[in-house]
Amino acid sequence: MVQFSSTANPSAPAGLKPVLIVTGGSRGIGAATAQLAAARGYAVCVNYRHHQAAASGVVGSIARAGGQAIAVAADVAIEAEVVRLFQTVDAQLGRVTALVNNAGILERQQRVEDIDAARISRILAVNVTGSFLCAREAIRRMSTRRGGAGGAIVNVSSVAARLGAPGEYVDYAAAKGAIDSLTIGLAQEVAAEGIRVNAVRPGFIYTDIHASGGEPDRVERVKTAVPLGRGGQAIEVAQAILWLLSAESAYTTGAFIDVAGGK
Ligand code: NAP
Repeated sequence: MVQFSSTANPSAPAGLKPVLIVTGGSRGIGAATAQLAAARGYAVCVNYRHHQAAASGVVGSIARAGGQAIAVAADVAIEAEVVRLFQTVDAQLGRVTALVNNAGILERQQRVEDIDAARISRILAVNVTGSFLCAREAIRRMSTRRGGAGGAIVNVSSVAARLGAPGEYVDYAAAKGAIDSLTIGLAQEVAAEGIRVNAVRPGFIYTDIHASGGEPDRVERVKTAVPLGRGGQAIEVAQAILWLLSAESAYTTGAFIDVAGGK
């Protein structure tokens, strides 16, 4: 039986830092997750796609606080780039013990009757295929069946999976529905191999993503419909993610935490 000394992650062998990959860690919820994880003792890979300066900023703030982090550019929708991302982490931080499938996109608010196939493919490629590919690479390293020491995966879904995002982006909502099914199925598939798989469903969180939808101030418009009466902060989602990664949730798998103010 493997013995663990880390309180941060039950899958880190004694004396070694747990190793976390956060996809889309350069901004928003991913950046908050990377910074909180580093403060709790993880060596963190901050993955990003385009915004190198933002990713460097996250790594710099972690380093200034005494933590360990690297930034790795990779488009999670491209299989070869995901493989390279994990190989880079193998070489620079060691075997991954935790993955947060956070990278996600949406596009301009549109009704389904106006959405074309190219857009649906882009939305599914990043949100769904990217999460599957990263989970695959993580499992190949974490699974006790393959000589790994176990691990934890947290998928970042959305309340959109439940609400459907009518008139805004049903394609995005459907992609998050797929993430929920991935979480349920994969959690059961790898439960006996030392790997837990859970998800968070954020609600209306103040990040850049709403600008992609064409409405940067969207949270201000919709927050009146939130029972707690406000939008959420990225750190509030990060705290739920860190709990799901930690030993404190050791008996939790295939579960969902809605971080949505009651919405
Ligand atoms: P954000 O501020 O727009 O940040 C998105 C992050 O994902 C960035 O770091 C971006 O990298 C990265 N990214 C985008 N496409 C990528 C790709 N193909 N490969 C690798 N990285 C990629 O978004 P956010 O609001 O923090 O959202 C994070 C997650 O939470 C997403 O899955 C989103 O669907 C989910 N979520 C957000 C809300 C909300 O209200 N904000 C609500 C529910 C769910 P670059 O910086 O390089 O572009």
